[in-house]
Amino acid sequence: MKNKIKTNLTSDAALRLKAVIDTAIDGIVTIDEKGIVETINPAAAKLFGFAEKEVVGKSVNMLMPAPHSHKHDGYIKRYIETKKPHIIGIGREVEGKRKDGTLFPLRLAVSEVFLGEKRIFTGIIHDLTDVKKAEEKILKLNLALEAQNEELELKVSERTDKLVEVVNQLLKTNKQLEKEVDERKTAEHALRKSEKELKELLEKEKELNELKSRFVSMASHEFRTPLSTILSSIELVEAYQKTEQQPKRQKHVARIKNAVNNLTSVLNDFLSLSRLEEGFVKPQQEAFLFKPFCEDVVDEFREQLKPGQVLEYEGNGDGRKVFFDKNFLRPVFFNLLSNATKYTPPGKRIHCRVRFEEDLLKITIKDEGIGIPKADQKHLFTRFFRAHNVENIKGTGLGLHIVRRYVELMGGHIRFESEEGKGTSFFVEIPLKNEN
Ligand code: ATP
Ligand code: MG
Repeated sequence: MKNKIKTNLTSDAALRLKAVIDTAIDGIVTIDEKGIVETINPAAAKLFGFAEKEVVGKSVNMLMPAPHSHKHDGYIKRYIETKKPHIIGIGREVEGKRKDGTLFPLRLAVSEVFLGEKRIFTGIIHDLTDVKKAEEKILKLNLALEAQNEELELKVSERTDKLVEVVNQLLKTNKQLEKEVDERKTAEHALRKSEKELKELLEKEKELNELKSRFVSMASHEFRTPLSTILSSIELVEAYQKTEQQPKRQKHVARIKNAVNNLTSVLNDFLSLSRLEEGFVKPQQEAFLFKPFCEDVVDEFREQLKPGQVLEYEGNGDGRKVFFDKNFLRPVFFNLLSNATKYTPPGKRIHCRVRFEEDLLKITIKDEGIGIPKADQKHLFTRFFRAHNVENIKGTGLGLHIVRRYVELMGGHIRFESEEGKGTSFFVEIPLKNEN
């Protein structure tokens, strides 16, 4: 921009101005319209490596590198003609040329000054060497940082990839381990199961062996007694040859019959048990009228009652049809009634009650017999078990076991209440099924 400096400065002021210019840190150069240097302050001279007198009166081009040095005159001319500033009044970063030919960066602010009719241009030069150096340093640093950053990022991404890989590997191993643990568990489970099955088989085998030995001792006893009775009775029958000895013969024939019956019942028990043990017993169900069936069984049984024993029968199933296997139901009645008679003294009452309640058949057989000692009660349904109070009453200890097996095969259950010396009641409940 145009700065009009008054020329009537006092010499004091001029001196002061000169002092300011001379001591200024920035370089100050004035040129005329043709680009001839009029003044150069010490800072500028030092900057360009010239002495003042080497520059004054010469073209300012000498302080500029090509191509500006050649074009500079043209710049001034163009400005004067067009008034369009490129550098004047604006300030720019350009390069300066030292006396030794080296270049350096500088900030140049040019102003147009009118001294009366004369126009000069003042250039203020600020050395940017340090600034540029610092900038370069910063730039280099930045580049280095960027490179480092990039390297770091690369490393981080590499590490992340590796980490992901490791994590994936771990997950895979974990899965593998889990699978192995599962497999082991399954194997262990299978092992335990087969161990358990083996134990159970062994247990069963043991039980069977025990059963066999018990059977042998039981059979030898249970068979020998009736067989020796039969033998002695036959010998006696043979001996009674006279007609008047007929009653004696009859007595022994009756004994023989009784012994054979006993043998048959024992054999039947063994047969039932062995069939049940083998697991081949399947119900052959049929529909039949319950009352006549039950009365037949009871009537048939009456023959076995002891002298003076009364069997009372009570039932609500008139005209009722049921759907059972008779061969399951009959031994239930028979065994329970047989026990009631066997373990009850002559002259006492035995009560048989049959009721249909909702979808259940309920059978109760009650006696006033010897009862079952408390301590023996929990073993009652075990094969061959006999209570301690049976004394010389015959039996194999199989009846109740068979009864329970049949009841359970029909989907029912059995329980009892008993008091030693007072009597026993057995309760059977069997679900009623429809015929289809
Ligand atoms: P089996 O019936 O095979 O001829 P058992 O009568 O001894 O022989 P279970 O019918 O199984 O065998 O009965 C087992 C034991 O239960 C009997 O020996 C007896 O001690 C006891 N017991 C069963 N029913 C009665 C009862 N009504 N009163 C007293 N004791 C009984
Ligand atoms: Mg019995």
